[in-house]
Amino acid sequence: MSAKPITLGVDFGTTNTCVAYVKGKVPRCVPTDKGSLVLPSVVAKSTKGELLVGNVAKDQMVTNPKNTVYGVKRLIGRQFRSKTVEELRKYFSYEIVEGEDGGCAVNLGGTVQSIPEVSSHILSHCKKVSEAFLEEPIEDAVIAVPAYFTDSQRAAVKEAGKLAGFNVKRIINEPTAAALAYGFNRGFDQKILVYDMGGGTFDVSILQLHGNVFEVVATGGDTFLGGVDFDNRIIDYVLEEFRRQTRIDLATSPIALQRIKSASETTKIDLSMMANVMIELPYIESRRGKPVDLRIALSREKLNALTGDLVDRTFQVVGNLLAEESLRPTDLREVLLVGGQSRMPLVQGKTHQYFGKLPRKGVHPDESVALGAALLGESLHEEDAVTLVDVLSVPIGIALPGGRFRRIIEKNASIPTAKSFRLPPAKSGDVELDVFQGEAEQIVDNEYLGTLRFAPDLGGRKVTFQVDEECMLRVTAEGTTGAAREVLLATKDTPQSLKEAWNEEMARRAAEQSAAEPPRGGGLFASIRRIWGG
Ligand code: AMP
Repeated sequence: MSAKPITLGVDFGTTNTCVAYVKGKVPRCVPTDKGSLVLPSVVAKSTKGELLVGNVAKDQMVTNPKNTVYGVKRLIGRQFRSKTVEELRKYFSYEIVEGEDGGCAVNLGGTVQSIPEVSSHILSHCKKVSEAFLEEPIEDAVIAVPAYFTDSQRAAVKEAGKLAGFNVKRIINEPTAAALAYGFNRGFDQKILVYDMGGGTFDVSILQLHGNVFEVVATGGDTFLGGVDFDNRIIDYVLEEFRRQTRIDLATSPIALQRIKSASETTKIDLSMMANVMIELPYIESRRGKPVDLRIALSREKLNALTGDLVDRTFQVVGNLLAEESLRPTDLREVLLVGGQSRMPLVQGKTHQYFGKLPRKGVHPDESVALGAALLGESLHEEDAVTLVDVLSVPIGIALPGGRFRRIIEKNASIPTAKSFRLPPAKSGDVELDVFQGEAEQIVDNEYLGTLRFAPDLGGRKVTFQVDEECMLRVTAEGTTGAAREVLLATKDTPQSLKEAWNEEMARRAAEQSAAEPPRGGGLFASIRRIWGG
């Protein structure tokens, strides 16, 4: 047994999950699946009712598409009734339903499971495998999330970690973790850029490194641009080619489509190493009782032509971010490529062209985030070993009449941060304040975080939004009397039992209020507890 408990660093990816630990100051990944260092982020219920996780789940995806859940990271912490989820439901072959709390859930072999629950199966598998590998029980974890994750998404990831039996010590932003893997204890003083293209999203961050101080200067990205978009281009091409060759439309056959989907991703990955690949799917259809095979050639050149605009889009995002910060590509000392999709030669070539230097090869795109999270976990045992200065990547604000969005804390504000504003006086009844996170002018286009409900006497008083170092929101409101009071926070979709609990709590407080309570140190703040998302 090591002297201090191990803290696992977890990179819970859209496509793959990777976990790492530090022993003797060296971070390493845990082999999690069939000896590989990454575990496919896939959960399934087999036809026999067994729960499958990782490669075994992925391997039976073609024959059991309805009960095989993948890409849950794209759903975690999102409201079921949101534009994003509506869009994603079209792509996923499993059933996404509305969960009790208004979030997303899935139907897995006849049982409805929330997204944090499904995610926890992946995390608890990693925990078990790591404990067996390291021969000691592991409780603590640092989990990495994309920098643009909202407060609800972060809370849902924490919940998944808790359900898996982890004590989640910290949530770290993925690019910061990658930067730690690159620069920890190396005494650098430089600006770097982290280009992270994973399965579902593209994320770019600029960091300033001063020794072990890792300061995020700015972040940007596109939450709808990732590996699956490359796969979809290949799928469309294959469907079109097959239609042209045979006049058969495979788009309406779920099993054929699933086979093409998986072959498209494999082909894309193979084309990172080879110049030409033959996609072969025997017996994809039958015509007049006879099997029809699929055989379509794809070259790297053709793939580049099919997807070049997607790569160009990432460089537009990079260009905008550099312009916002008044930086030139040559101001960056290193470019770290993170995420599986960044292994595509076209991405590497364009990075070279754009920055005039080769991307840093020493940092492994699949492992760096988990390694960095593990290094942070280890450093939490020592005071001041690492300082992380991050920014808020998505603005937080409130709803105004007419559905407009008022930003309270702006994008790229250094965190931790706090901002106060005044509530308009309430004429009667409770004051409600809907909180959203997003970049859009209209609240419908942003992510709903929750509703703050204030007792009427708090109207006209100061409300403070605080974002902590993990990018999580806490709200406090100044009361009117000398009494310390607590105000609960409820979401619109709060289950009935919570709404009742809220009403009971308010009634109890109203009764208590008549009894005089001592003022608290001159000022008084009512703390607002979040009761959504755990
Ligand atoms: P991540 O979310 O970081 O695990 O990235 C997964 C994405 O990277 C998926 O879309 C994979 O298909 C893609 N990917 C993994 N390896 C490669 C590779 N060698 N070339 C191109 N794409 C890859």
